[in-house]
Amino acid sequence: MMLRSMVCILMWMGCCAVALAQSSAKPVGSERKWAVVLHGGAGVIERSSMTPEAEKEYRAGITEALNAAAAVLDKGGSSLDAVEAAIKLLEDNPLFNAGRGAVFAADGTNQLDAAIMDGRTMQAGAVADVQKTRHPISLARAVMEKSPHVMLIGAGADAFAAHVGLEQVPPSFFFTERRWQALEQELKKEGVALPKRPEGAPPAPEPEKPMAFFETPESHKYGTVGVVALDRSGNVSAGTSTGGTTGKRWNRVGDSPVIGAGTYASNQSCAVSATGTGEYFIRLTVARTICALVQYKGMALQAAVDDVVQKQLPAIHGDGGVIALSPDGQMAWSFNTPGMFRAKLAEGGTAEVGIYRDEP
Ligand code: ASP
Repeated sequence: MMLRSMVCILMWMGCCAVALAQSSAKPVGSERKWAVVLHGGAGVIERSSMTPEAEKEYRAGITEALNAAAAVLDKGGSSLDAVEAAIKLLEDNPLFNAGRGAVFAADGTNQLDAAIMDGRTMQAGAVADVQKTRHPISLARAVMEKSPHVMLIGAGADAFAAHVGLEQVPPSFFFTERRWQALEQELKKEGVALPKRPEGAPPAPEPEKPMAFFETPESHKYGTVGVVALDRSGNVSAGTSTGGTTGKRWNRVGDSPVIGAGTYASNQSCAVSATGTGEYFIRLTVARTICALVQYKGMALQAAVDDVVQKQLPAIHGDGGVIALSPDGQMAWSFNTPGMFRAKLAEGGTAEVGIYRDEP
């Protein structure tokens, strides 16, 4: 009798323990609020060098991408889908240095890099030096989901894109006058011969014809795009897409497609996308270092991004910024340049859109 009641008590305690563990576990598929943070590049972006018209266009571009991600998340879509949807829009927007509107390499080609990472599975896909695929971010996702690899480069990456049915475009699709003129300026400065104007590009504008802001070179230096998202299931993802740096040579690749440098996501810590001079971000493995500070030091997300962007990067003369998001809904950004195109929104809140340092 005594033994039987002890067994009953023990079973009851066991049930209570399981119930308690279940109630303290994160709810799956319910109650989580979605959130999204994005950037459109960091650099010398100052009020004095920006016309009101241009500022409006940039704010509209990042707001449109933010809303696209929010629409996916609000319907219960995955953070991965939200990241891809927003980046595809930014890749098609000629204002940003990704997809159409990417900067030119010294040989007159657009060499596109992108990466995406799923924080739930920690699977990742990346591409570098893509020249024919309209949406490098979708190609990075295809590498993650449809190949056994993490990174593909060059002609092979484009061939894989065609193989999985991703839209292929002629190189002139990515051409913009302002990026071409920025290349001409850069190469003149370096005393290097100018490459031939790309086949299929519109004819060069007449010198005396006034150019719209969006056609003027050096309007700003950067424009890489990145998105981090958190879905209602509590999963974070990160993605980044870029044309790299103007006048790059020898198939230079920056941090954006390097997992752990420009892009990283893990449900154990956070999701990060970076922008800036990639060489420094690679050396510091910026995105992973931020997540490691959160994961192993228990730092708040804002403290972690500030530590890396305001202390560690300047210590090695690195310039740029990051956006970040954690599975518990902390949103953060930090940049050590005069400006960074950026926006964030959490479910039930209002969108914050900023460009300059003095904005919140
Ligand atoms: N991080 C990019 C690269 O180095 C450029 C940028 O973010 O502006 O390729």
